[in-house]
Amino acid sequence: MGLHPTSVNENYLEELDQVEFWLAKEKFYAIGEIGIDLYWDKTFQKDQEIAFTKQIELAKKYQLPIVIHMRDSFDEVYEIVKKYTSPELTGVFHCFTGTIEQAKKIIELNFLLGIGGVVTFKNSSLDKVVEKVDIKYLLLETDAPFLTPMPFRGKRNESAYTRLVARKIAEIKNISLEEIAEITTSNAKQLFKFI
Ligand SMILES: [Zn+2]
Repeated sequence: MGLHPTSVNENYLEELDQVEFWLAKEKFYAIGEIGIDLYWDKTFQKDQEIAFTKQIELAKKYQLPIVIHMRDSFDEVYEIVKKYTSPELTGVFHCFTGTIEQAKKIIELNFLLGIGGVVTFKNSSLDKVVEKVDIKYLLLETDAPFLTPMPFRGKRNESAYTRLVARKIAEIKNISLEEIAEITTSNAKQLFKFI
């Protein structure tokens, strides 16, 4: 449950009321995707920051992890999460494509890194970053229907392609595919409290 940053516009306060209404009514496993996106449009940057902050407060209230969407906005997102950091606040920076310095900062905040198809792209340097990060901080994802991993890049992405992401990480870390699957599954279960 959550209001995505690219959907923050004139009526976002009403939309946040909806988020709050549903959180009180049903069981959810996370609040997301929430965050800041400055790639498409900066018009509502201030409002995106307010919406993000309000939803972090809701995550604390309901003790839910958050799924963070950031695009061209690492510093802005980082400053806000850092301000709210606490033992109960955790989550994942989804579709992480940043630097090792940024990865370290995220881990220090008690968050995980979501790794998707980009790690399989030839022109990405994400493999070098993943190589240096302990698997216990990684989650696998696809971002389907976007960011389709190799060798299907450019086609529609599928959840089943998580396997291709896992295979690439296994190759980078020189660990078996089974072990990558086991550890990242356990990371996901722990984060989202799946029993
Ligand atoms: Zn996203």
